[in-house]
Amino acid sequence: MVDLSSRIRDIPDFPKKGIIFKDIMPLLSDPAAFASAVDQLAARVAKPDAVVAIESRGFIFGAPLALRWGVPFVPARKFGKLPGKTVRQVYSLEYGEDTLELHADSLSKGACVVVVDDLLATGGTAAATIQLVHQLSATVSAVLFVIELEGLGGRAKLAPTTVESLLRYKVTG
Ligand code: AMP
Repeated sequence: MVDLSSRIRDIPDFPKKGIIFKDIMPLLSDPAAFASAVDQLAARVAKPDAVVAIESRGFIFGAPLALRWGVPFVPARKFGKLPGKTVRQVYSLEYGEDTLELHADSLSKGACVVVVDDLLATGGTAAATIQLVHQLSATVSAVLFVIELEGLGGRAKLAPTTVESLLRYKVTG
C-alpha cells in the first residue's frame, strides 16, 4: 500500500506565522497515492445518497468519491459563488467569520450524505457544512478527511457525527 504520509509536505508559517500548513500537492501529483487516498476514503463508509464536498480542496476528493459511488456531487461553496437560491451558514474563523452555502434544491429531504474535506483542524468549517445539510432536512452519516490535526478539538466539535480520517497529526492549539 502507498505510504500517504510521505506525500504530505509541511510548509511552516503559511499562510501566517505559527501555522504549519499541510500541503497535499505531492499526494495529488502522484496518481498511485491519489487513487489510494480515494480508495481508502471510499472504504471507510457505506455508499451515501450524495457527497457534499467543501470548497475548495474538499472538491478534489469529493468528486472522485461521488463518481465511484454513482451519487450526486454537491459542492458547499463560499458565499456568493452559487447562482441559484441558497441556504447559508455563518461560522467563526480565528479572526472574523465566513459563510458557506448550498443550493436550496441540492439535496432531497431525508437524504443521507457524506461530507468531505481535505483536512480537519478546529472543525468549524465541517460543523457549518453539517448545519447546512440539516437546513435542507437531510442527514450526515459521516465526515471524511484525508488529514486530521489532533489537539484542536475538531472531532469533539463534530460529535456525534462519525469522523473518519486517513492520517492523524498531533498539534498544540
Ligand atoms: P477548521 O474549520 O479549523 O477545521 O479548518 C479546516 C479548513 O481549513 C479545511 O478546509 C482546511 O483545508 C483548512 N486548514 C486548516 N488548517 C490547515 C493546515 N494546517 N494545513 C492545511 N489546511 C488547513
